[in-house]
Amino acid sequence: MLCIKCRKAELETKSAELEGEIQGETFSVNCPALVCPKCGYKTIGAGQVQTFMRLLADQFREKHGLLTSEEIKRMRREMGWSQSELAMKTGAGSASIKRWELGKIQDAAMDKLLRLFLDPEYARRHAKEMNETDRRLVWSQPYLQFSHGEDTRSSYKPLPPFYYNPDFAETC
Ligand SMILES: [Zn+2]
Repeated sequence: MLCIKCRKAELETKSAELEGEIQGETFSVNCPALVCPKCGYKTIGAGQVQTFMRLLADQFREKHGLLTSEEIKRMRREMGWSQSELAMKTGAGSASIKRWELGKIQDAAMDKLLRLFLDPEYARRHAKEMNETDRRLVWSQPYLQFSHGEDTRSSYKPLPPFYYNPDFAETC
């Protein structure tokens, strides 16, 4: 394709630094492009648009602490799941999973959902908080255990020292 700026040379396919905008923010990415060897004019070819958009989106995601396309794909594969398996587990549509892996940006809520299923560290932190909340709830309501006889939640053994709470004794 002849350079549309100088019209003196054919555009060549090579890596180039190009700027793009996402949600009002400008990012610069190194990606395959069409470059004029004479005047330096550079543009994105039809077949290069998707790669360019994905790289831009990944920069946006890195900046905003969201999982990148590659990370979603890699973590999903580490779990041994197909796109539709991940879709079933999370309740997010298969089409969405596919698009996120191709470069569409997931919103913050969806990012957290993905991390719950794909990021062991994130899931562990969440589980720890759940355990702490769970324990606090049980300890703050000792009469529930007392009046129901045995605690069905097997994770609370041994019982806390103030299990016998005289304030609630008469309810038994
Ligand atoms: Zn040119």
